[in-house]
Amino acid sequence: MKKILVADDEMSIRLLYSEELKEEGYEVYTAANGREALEIMATVPVDLVILDIKMPEMDGIETLRQIKERRPDLPVLLSTAYGEYRQDFATWASDEYLVKSSDLDDLRNAVKRYLKD
Ligand SMILES: [Mg+2]
Repeated sequence: MKKILVADDEMSIRLLYSEELKEEGYEVYTAANGREALEIMATVPVDLVILDIKMPEMDGIETLRQIKERRPDLPVLLSTAYGEYRQDFATWASDEYLVKSSDLDDLRNAVKRYLKD
């Protein structure tokens, strides 16, 4: 079973994404910020990470940088309520940039694309 890590400071998003992804057959881990996400990654060999950008303690951009330093090939999807970060070069290291919406099709499709097989 493929393992997905969802990092978002909003509990409602963590719940929504993990319910959705579990239904799709993935094993889901959640973190409330980037520091927690890296802690989980130190023990769990995750296959994909979904990162919120605005989070306390360690934001998604710094987390993305540290993840890509350790595991350059690990797919990282940024998921944010704001499209404005698309212009920020620091987000270009992500494999996908998703704007949060109540419709989870984009998220589902992106995850499927990176975790096929
Ligand atoms: Mg946030």
